[in-house]
Amino acid sequence: MAGEFELIERYFTGRGALRDDVAVGVGDDGAVLSVPAGQQLVAVADTIVDRVHFPVGSDPADVGHRALAVNLSDLAAMGAVPAWATVCLTLPTGDEAWCEAFAAGFDALARAHGVALVGGDTTRGPLAISVQLLGLVPAGQALTRRGARPGDLVYVTGWPGDAAAGLALLQGRLAGQGADRSWLVRRFRRPEPRVEFGVRLRGLASACIDVSDGLAVDLGRLAASSGVAALLRADAVPLSRALYALAGEAGAREFALGGGDDYELLFTVPLARRGDLAGLQGPGAPALHCIGEIAAGHGLKVRAGGVDLPVRGYDHFPD
Ligand code: ADP
Ligand code: MG
Repeated sequence: MAGEFELIERYFTGRGALRDDVAVGVGDDGAVLSVPAGQQLVAVADTIVDRVHFPVGSDPADVGHRALAVNLSDLAAMGAVPAWATVCLTLPTGDEAWCEAFAAGFDALARAHGVALVGGDTTRGPLAISVQLLGLVPAGQALTRRGARPGDLVYVTGWPGDAAAGLALLQGRLAGQGADRSWLVRRFRRPEPRVEFGVRLRGLASACIDVSDGLAVDLGRLAASSGVAALLRADAVPLSRALYALAGEAGAREFALGGGDDYELLFTVPLARRGDLAGLQGPGAPALHCIGEIAAGHGLKVRAGGVDLPVRGYDHFPD
């Protein structure tokens, strides 16, 4: 068992990318970071708690990946380029093996996205990890949830529902084996936030949100922030082959509309500019599907086969 100082020194110093805009990093009372002229800082934070946001006994490398990934996804939704992170760790014991694996999972994803770990805090208590991530965006160009207008089309990246099905497999609520199981479980354990794609949406998307609580709920949030109504065409929501194979069509749609932890981007584009999306596709770009549209008014409608479905069931906190 190592003390707080040893843990920080051994596992949380020099992690992530080396950036020359870090004037002072881990080891002082605060980090000093140089913000380039003409850029705005975008700050996001997310806490993940043992048993709430990841199953008990999770591989600590997966937890390290997730703790950063959920924040990268928020920055992606803002169209920001990630730069600096702080990590506040609450640990029941000074478990070195856990810290080493956690730091390795965090470090690999941080390097992949050019993020430097510049500080944090380490305390004792029930296992929880709080990450703050700072990113940069050219002044005035951040994406927000607020700009959707009637007539805009709604798009989603990738394959919603996979991660929720992966968690269901781990928890025994869904059965399945083989390559489909591995794919879905990996989509839960190792979310791949759409950071590069978020940056490319600047100047094109009228509004953007990342899907963390479920497609339907998060589209409802985007619509509410923009002061408009949204129609979600359930039949148009893409389903991965693996999800379809293990959950069946109805189950797959349920996971895709109501599951969480997707970390895909959900965004709107003015009808007249839909053709510009073609320019964003290519190697490494996520699949894109048009799944609905924005109208005047308020609220969310989910339609399948011409029938309106109740939306309430997808709300984690129904009133
Ligand atoms: P202080 O008591 O002044 O807050 P700490 O002893 O908590 O300082 O932290 C010492 C240094 O280590 C600080 O630079 C802090 O940002 C950094 N640090 C602490 N915990 C972590 C962590 N989990 N990850 C990264 N840096 C950390
Ligand atoms: Mg401290």
